[in-house]
Amino acid sequence: MKALICGAGIAGCALAWRLERAGWDVELVERAPAFRDGGYMIDFFGPGTAVAERMGLLPRLHELRYPFSTLEYVDGKGMRTSRLRMTEDFTEVISLLRGDLARSIYAEVSSPVRYGTTVEAVEQADGEAGVSVLLTDGTRRQVDLLVGADGVHSRVRELVFGPEQRYLRYLGHHVAAFIVDDAEVSRRTGAFYRMLTVPGLMAGAYALRGDRAALMFLRRDPDPALPDDPAVTLRRDYGDLGWILPDALRQCPQPPDLYYDPVTQVEMEGWSRGNVVLLGDACQAVSLFAGHGAALAMAGAWVLAEELGAAKGDMAGAMARYEERMRPAVTQTQEFGRGFVGWMAPGSRWRIAARDWLVRAAALPGGKRMLMKSLTPTFHDPLTESATDRVAVGGSSSGRWGR
Ligand SMILES: Cc1cc2nc3c(=O)[nH]c(=O)nc-3n(C[C@H](O)[C@H](O)[C@H](O)COP(=O)(O)OP(=O)(O)OC[C@H]3O[C@@H](n4cnc5c(N)ncnc54)[C@H](O)[C@@H]3O)c2cc1C
Repeated sequence: MKALICGAGIAGCALAWRLERAGWDVELVERAPAFRDGGYMIDFFGPGTAVAERMGLLPRLHELRYPFSTLEYVDGKGMRTSRLRMTEDFTEVISLLRGDLARSIYAEVSSPVRYGTTVEAVEQADGEAGVSVLLTDGTRRQVDLLVGADGVHSRVRELVFGPEQRYLRYLGHHVAAFIVDDAEVSRRTGAFYRMLTVPGLMAGAYALRGDRAALMFLRRDPDPALPDDPAVTLRRDYGDLGWILPDALRQCPQPPDLYYDPVTQVEMEGWSRGNVVLLGDACQAVSLFAGHGAALAMAGAWVLAEELGAAKGDMAGAMARYEERMRPAVTQTQEFGRGFVGWMAPGSRWRIAARDWLVRAAALPGGKRMLMKSLTPTFHDPLTESATDRVAVGGSSSGRWGR
């Protein structure tokens, strides 16, 4: 069986990993000119670490992780306004760069990746098995399965399911992230996750190995339209807020090294059409407010491969069962994320004060566990119901993630 995967990110590489081990002939196409490293810090846990363990990746991820023991809110002078120590409650969370996670999966994939290339057109004839795919380099592929693992702004989704406006739910914020190579900014940031908030704006930073720092910016904005020059917009909004921000923003790169996007969730009624299926953020983005997007992308890849393996040629059935297993977790995580929208870049001073109060209260006995519970969604575990389990237990799934 032949598969073409569009997007060599977390979901695409995880699926390639699993399909090639099941004997599939896999090829990936990736729009970027080379493998996408760096990015932003993510917290990786739950079904993501469960899949990573099955893939034998956990030791590598532990080498790449950053110690995430403390979250601090600071003011414009860099002075702490509130703090949360995470040690005991966050031990299972692996904090690492998105690019480091993707690369550690990619390192174990042997299928070829065609960089600087995407899908130009897709043809599926009624009653015929397989898909004909025209690539932007002018070559054509005839495959049994085309997978759109190409992120929130999926090209495959656009070609096969229609324009993205139908599927994106805007969550009222713009997000930006970049990495600076600056020993002084890195030293002043420190190995804590530090954040500065003023009404409607949040800037966060974390020191990285090699005298670097990862920065993340969140801004409330009722308009999802992207600014003409995101770096200029960031300097305008955050350049006068103090702390490390003026120095870091002087070194703000241009896209693609600067990530800038409206914060959105992807909601779709169906994730497959014929022999084309979507995977990861392309069909199930939950947003940074919910976290878990990378974990669910890995879980989706695992479940899809598992169902394809059990399908014995029934591709439509495999895709339906993949969606059936993934959807409850995705819906629950998306709902959780929407409930969290007001708290990362609070819109008023009193909300910032309330947030600081909650963080301080978490230092009281029992407080941290309560706060952690409110920061973590509880959702059905899509991994528990394997095709084999379904035969054995008649379709029940009891696993749940959360604290
Ligand atoms: C600031 C921020 C913080 C986040 N924090 C967390 C967190 O703490 N925990 C967590 O689990 N998740 C987090 N996420 C979400 C997480 O990063 C995503 O859910 C995850 O990366 C999804 O993986 P994916 O493979 O589906 O998509 P992506 O990682 O976006 O990969 C898609 C790949 O497809 C490629 N591509 C795009 N378009 C095309 C095209 N037309 N043709 C070919 N290739 C294409 C891209 O270059 C990329 O390589 C965060 C996201 C953001 C933005």
